[in-house]
Amino acid sequence: MNIKKIETFIVRDKLSKSFFFSQWEYSERLCCLVKITTDDGNYGWGEGYGPANIVKEGIEFLKPILIGMKIIDNEVIWSKMYSRTLDYARKGVLTASISAIDVAVWDLKGKLLNLPVSKLLGGTYRNKIKPYATGLYFSSIENPSKNFETELINYLKKGFKAIKMKIGLGIEADLKNIKYVRKVIGNDIKLMVDANHAYSLIESIELSKKMEKYEISWFEEPISPEHYKQYKELREKTSIPVSAGESEYLRYGFHQLLENKSVDIIQPDICSCGGLTEAKKISSLASVYGVDIVPHTWGSGLGIYVALNFIANIEPNPNRLVEKDLYIEYDQTENRIREELIIPKLIIKDGYIEIPTSPGLGVDINEEKLNQFKT
Ligand SMILES: [Mg+2]
Repeated sequence: MNIKKIETFIVRDKLSKSFFFSQWEYSERLCCLVKITTDDGNYGWGEGYGPANIVKEGIEFLKPILIGMKIIDNEVIWSKMYSRTLDYARKGVLTASISAIDVAVWDLKGKLLNLPVSKLLGGTYRNKIKPYATGLYFSSIENPSKNFETELINYLKKGFKAIKMKIGLGIEADLKNIKYVRKVIGNDIKLMVDANHAYSLIESIELSKKMEKYEISWFEEPISPEHYKQYKELREKTSIPVSAGESEYLRYGFHQLLENKSVDIIQPDICSCGGLTEAKKISSLASVYGVDIVPHTWGSGLGIYVALNFIANIEPNPNRLVEKDLYIEYDQTENRIREELIIPKLIIKDGYIEIPTSPGLGVDINEEKLNQFKT
């Protein structure tokens, strides 16, 4: 089974209504998918997280060096892509291009060996994972918290036991929203906050002190991802676990995050950190430092299947009789390329999503829908 053809697809969903987070506005969802076909007619799908057009160009750049390579040699393929881009792309979008190809190679490797990717990674420690809802984005700049209550009730109805809200509007505005959300969801639902690095160290310390009483399960990306040492300083001054990693790349980048004691939880996006091949190494690194992993996911439904396979294989650390819940991020904003492109669709049952058991990633792309969303 050798690589014969690599195709890229940019899919777009124009949103019925824009939403905002601490950095910018979303009026559409865009994603770059890759399909790799082998000489025996099999195919695998991958996805890159990041600006879709640039991810696509990165894949086009890598294509010529990959044709003819054997799917079984996934680490060799990875290494070839890494060494070809090392001088220009130790962090950033080209790493997402590598990730997309790597994920498609794993999908194919699973099909070749007739095993789910989670088994190929080393086996499944768990057969279902608790999703947490990512939502509560800002509806407008003038009235950012509009409709929070309706949204929250919807999440609770769907069976979510954990919810992550966006913050980063300023300390007082954030506190007002957090207090309100905690009141609506009560004390039995986990609540996380994500600032998308909107704050300085001083602001992060002040905000974390003031939100400790709301039982926040983690404070995500409080500070710019460049400031490893400031993250450490924040951790020393708050009891709230600090998380980051969606803006980090490769084992080398995560090593910096871990060695600087910057976070309690790392959040690699498998579709940008270097793919499953690299995420497995990052996972081993996290175990050395005793740090938890909750992957970031934001894109099509394919990316969620990638994360499901990966999380199924995360080694319990520490091990104990009753395992603590591992979470998967499940974005709940409007996004038809997340909901409609994949077969089978994702189902939450009794608050959990089951790990796929069919060969490869356990998911296929609906090509009719793909054509509909393709740009
Ligand atoms: Mg985030």
